[in-house]
Amino acid sequence: MEIIFLGTGSSTGTPVIGCSCPTCLSSDPRNKRTRCSVAIKTDAGKVLLIDTGPDLRLQALREDILRVDGVLYTHTHADHLNGIDDLRNFCFLQKQPIPVFGNEITINDIRQRFTYAFAPPGQYWDKPVLTSQVVESPFILEAVQITPIPVMHGKLPILGYRIGDVAYITDVSDIPDASMALLDGLEVLMLDCLHFRPHHTHIHFDKSVDYARQINAKQTYFIHMTHQVEYGEASSLLPEKMHFAFDGHRVNIN
Ligand SMILES: [Zn+2]
Ligand SMILES: [Zn+2]
Ligand SMILES: [Zn+2]
Repeated sequence: MEIIFLGTGSSTGTPVIGCSCPTCLSSDPRNKRTRCSVAIKTDAGKVLLIDTGPDLRLQALREDILRVDGVLYTHTHADHLNGIDDLRNFCFLQKQPIPVFGNEITINDIRQRFTYAFAPPGQYWDKPVLTSQVVESPFILEAVQITPIPVMHGKLPILGYRIGDVAYITDVSDIPDASMALLDGLEVLMLDCLHFRPHHTHIHFDKSVDYARQINAKQTYFIHMTHQVEYGEASSLLPEKMHFAFDGHRVNIN
């Protein structure tokens, strides 16, 4: 399986419009972050997305993503959801609906905000055509076991996902003990690391490193960074086996 980091930025992306801080002015491509999302390519060549941020079209073109076989939604904040309309191109190419997954709050909200995406396909496949499923326990998708990981995003219960021995947890402020128990023996952990100051709905550098140590994946990649995180400088502060992810980075898992 292959992990493709589509986007590694926070809700504003980096650079931030109107900002002239060193990260936003940096010419290092690893400081240019689109909104947070990842593609998982299975051994059979199927593609699962986690979230559909507003930069989905550019990410798919950049990474040559030519199909989507399912979307695992973490929650419905705009930076994780609002690229949903770009799924229509994949429905058009594949001539089939795309299944989307999430907790009950997420699925209800998506169905309410994007009602038209859950109608039967029209003759021209000119809208996204999606089916939805609420998930609470492990399920199989495209021959891969997926385990929803309930976590808290401030007061909002959202989901991370474990896909085989890879886990993705973004927009998290607290990981309950029962969910920590689902994260044993990971090859790769992708984990929220907003910036260096505490925040009420996200973990920040110290807490992210602390969780990463406890979970103890073979490799941890931090995601969802703001422009406070200058790639080179921030990377020098990281312990072994921990990295800041960057857009376009690919990791192969055996
Ligand atoms: Zn977010
Ligand atoms: Zn900036
Ligand atoms: Zn959020």
